[in-house]
Amino acid sequence: MKIETITTTKFRYITNKVKDTDGHTHPGPERETQSALLTITTDDGSTGDIVTSYGDIEEQLIEKFVRPVLVGEDPLRIEKLWQALYKWQRGSSMKLTDRTLCAVELALWDLAGKASGQPVWKLLGGYRDKILAYGSTMCGDDLENGLATPEDYGRYAEWLVKTRGYKAVKLHTWMPPIPGAPNVRMDYAACAAVREAVGPDIPLMLDPNHWYSRADALWLCRKLEELDFYWIEEMMEEASLSSYQWLTARTPKLNILGPESMTGKHWTRAEWAAKGACDMLRTGVWDVGGIGPAMKTAHLAESFHMSCEVHGTGAGNLAVAAAIPNTSYYERGLLHPFLDYDKPSAYQNRIDDEMDQDGYVHCRNTPGLGHDYNLDYIEANRV
Ligand code: MG
Repeated sequence: MKIETITTTKFRYITNKVKDTDGHTHPGPERETQSALLTITTDDGSTGDIVTSYGDIEEQLIEKFVRPVLVGEDPLRIEKLWQALYKWQRGSSMKLTDRTLCAVELALWDLAGKASGQPVWKLLGGYRDKILAYGSTMCGDDLENGLATPEDYGRYAEWLVKTRGYKAVKLHTWMPPIPGAPNVRMDYAACAAVREAVGPDIPLMLDPNHWYSRADALWLCRKLEELDFYWIEEMMEEASLSSYQWLTARTPKLNILGPESMTGKHWTRAEWAAKGACDMLRTGVWDVGGIGPAMKTAHLAESFHMSCEVHGTGAGNLAVAAAIPNTSYYERGLLHPFLDYDKPSAYQNRIDDEMDQDGYVHCRNTPGLGHDYNLDYIEANRV
């Protein structure tokens, strides 16, 4: 089996989400948006695919970096192909990003699963076939009855737990350009309202503004210790490893989780574990360049007796979370009272991460990564 073609198909669909000036997603009026499908096809007709932003897989990137590495190669030698793409990154003038590596690698894993008739979560080790999800809210907003006040967060968290079945909840709180944000006292008020609403037994987590000072971060952590939060993540610029060592040493009753957006794949994460800059490691396929480096992060965390919490949604992250023993939850979101997360987009037959009423996301036994795209829709809505 040899890789023959690699194609990008840009397509349009309707969304009811908008991005604010700082890049945070909120509910909004219906509008047209675009995504793209990356498809890898072999000489025997096997295929693997993944949907992502067009910027991750635009034709110039595929032509310049990806086809020269992949075409004519055995698609099952994923580590060999990933290493070759990774080595290209330095000479690519920053054009070949970890997200492009991830998209290509996910399509290769999807192809490997389909060609072997196996789901990817099993090929990776298949530690479990279902995993509890935490409900991960959108950032705070200024929408009436949305996520504008601590009471809004409390009311929504209560619905997530008591009606929808989530067994854990993570808040993203207010960030600029929302008036008054960021503010650790506003963050604390939302966290306190959620703790009050869901009771003492539901694990809670916080992802606040990412640029607090050490002093603000420590104040917030001390308050979260009082509320018995499970973890806090990315409350300071992650490039300062020393600041995370400083904070982790001062918060014995709260887990510090990281790094999430810091570059450097599994190598950065090894430094954080070795230097005591966090209590729990963070990885995510789109952050570290694919399933391979995410699995390496998880294994190194296990070797330090640490958990590795998987960042972000989607079939790739679900496959990793199911494959490893040392993780607590799958991140499901982002969620908002005005949006129906369970409703598939027009290009999907099903969402990647259907959840039952007990809060479990079940892994699919269909071959491949587990996503279920409507390829006819994508073809009919080509841009
Ligand atoms: Mg985060």
